[in-house]
Amino acid sequence: MEMKLESRRARLVSSDPLTGSEIGEVPVMGHAEVSAMVGASRTAQRGWSARALPVRARALERLRHIIASRADEIAALVRSETGKTLAEALVEITIACDYVAYLARVAPNALIGRRAATGLLAHRKAWVAYQPFGVIAAITPWNYPFVLSLSAAATSLVAGNGVVLKPSEYTPLTGVLVGELLAEATGLQDLVGVATGDGSTGAALIATDVDKIAFTGSVATGKKVMRAAAESLTPLVLELGGKDAMIVCADADIERAARGAVWSAFYACGQLCQSVERVYVVDPVYDEFVQIALAEARRVRTSDEPEATIGSLIAPFQVEKVQRHLQDAQAKGARVLLGGRAINAPGFFFEPTVIVDVSHDMELMREETFGPVLPIMRVADEEEALRLAADSDYGLNASVWTRDRAKARRIARQLEVGSVVINDHMINYAMVDLPFGGARDSGFGRVHGLEGLREFVRPTAWVEDRIALKHEPHWFQNGGRDAGMAKAILHLKHGRGPVKRLRAAFSLLVDYLR
Ligand code: NAD
Repeated sequence: MEMKLESRRARLVSSDPLTGSEIGEVPVMGHAEVSAMVGASRTAQRGWSARALPVRARALERLRHIIASRADEIAALVRSETGKTLAEALVEITIACDYVAYLARVAPNALIGRRAATGLLAHRKAWVAYQPFGVIAAITPWNYPFVLSLSAAATSLVAGNGVVLKPSEYTPLTGVLVGELLAEATGLQDLVGVATGDGSTGAALIATDVDKIAFTGSVATGKKVMRAAAESLTPLVLELGGKDAMIVCADADIERAARGAVWSAFYACGQLCQSVERVYVVDPVYDEFVQIALAEARRVRTSDEPEATIGSLIAPFQVEKVQRHLQDAQAKGARVLLGGRAINAPGFFFEPTVIVDVSHDMELMREETFGPVLPIMRVADEEEALRLAADSDYGLNASVWTRDRAKARRIARQLEVGSVVINDHMINYAMVDLPFGGARDSGFGRVHGLEGLREFVRPTAWVEDRIALKHEPHWFQNGGRDAGMAKAILHLKHGRGPVKRLRAAFSLLVDYLR
């Protein structure tokens, strides 16, 4: 019977977007397997969380050295599952190592807990303990499959949790490799489970008794995940899509801004949640900006060659989305100045595209495109740029380009986003001490930084005796029912002037000694 079930079990094939060739396959796991994985992780987690913080941090130290020593193999796998260039894959691995090193360094102090004030109750001792949740479900996308899976899992572990990772169906082998690396670093097989499969596997994982969900992916799936989590009131972090705006002021270094826009829109073939997807340039410098951006974009080469500037899109559905957005924009009056077409090759390549005369009634300016497309819009002034930047469901990141720092900060304060970079874009993700996350539909909760680390612990308040009294002054047998006593406490703490407070203190003392 078991054999039969095994042979009918669905398989997921991973293929290389650069060539279309198959590179491996994994099972599509269902509820029973995923539940068993969560149970095994929970058992392993009990022993793991009992290990001292510095011991857990040392496992992460081992992890980054293991990753660095296997970087070529990891980069080759990431490239063959995503279609990105080797350089892009190596940058992803470096950020993962940076973050793991950061966690190993800061977690022992950041998670040790803190003393808390006890107010008038000086005979008590209080502190906050950062307790692990238990088992975390880390559900991740395909676009940065290594760093996003590894970071979520490493943060879970250093905080004392177990983790079950559900990698994207487009990059399952990278997920399996992340699991192997973590098993090697911790010396534990079951602490980290890797649940391979598609959305149904992710849904099955949420339906188990996991204690928290760390989800990274699209807004549409994020909403489904939140709905499912509501059933069991499982807390969650949602890191969702973006439609990043770039605002170029008249006093910006226009050459730098234009080159920066091309890099930020085309890097990783535009398949970054932080890609520049909308550029607003003020009228006096618009023409110059477009000319320089065009010249820079012409230098971008996309192919499966190792020296290509950018690689391919992940799959046909991405090619179709980019085409749909461009067609809709052109039908509404936009002009493609460069590129605009899919490239007929075995892979899913798309010409680097510069498009102008765009407006907010186009899908291209409202929905996440996730492709090598740079839409540039002429605006009258910075006020209009700000208004348009805010006219979006998303709020992940934004950038402001100007030589005037005070103005940059003024504009930055008005943007409802998770991060703002002045005179650059998306570089904040590489600064792992910074919290990363969104506003609006781009999600909530944070990864990276101390704020991200603390998403993976439950702050627990602990109170104990410093001096044990026979009974407490506020209990019923003393003054617990006594409005006079309640009033004296109020005045002692908040009364205006020392006389009023002293009188209140005296009355409390008399009450207690009575
Ligand atoms: P997706 O939402 O399609 O899938 C993400 C993950 O969710 C996958 O593992 C998928 O199998 C799983 N999933 C699908 N349906 C599910 C369900 N019902 N229950 C539970 N899990 C389910 O996203 P994608 O296409 O893989 O990734 C691209 C998106 O991710 C883009 O929108 C991008 O902006 C976003 N992203 C955001 C960040 C960030 O940090 N904010 C980082 C990277 C990518």
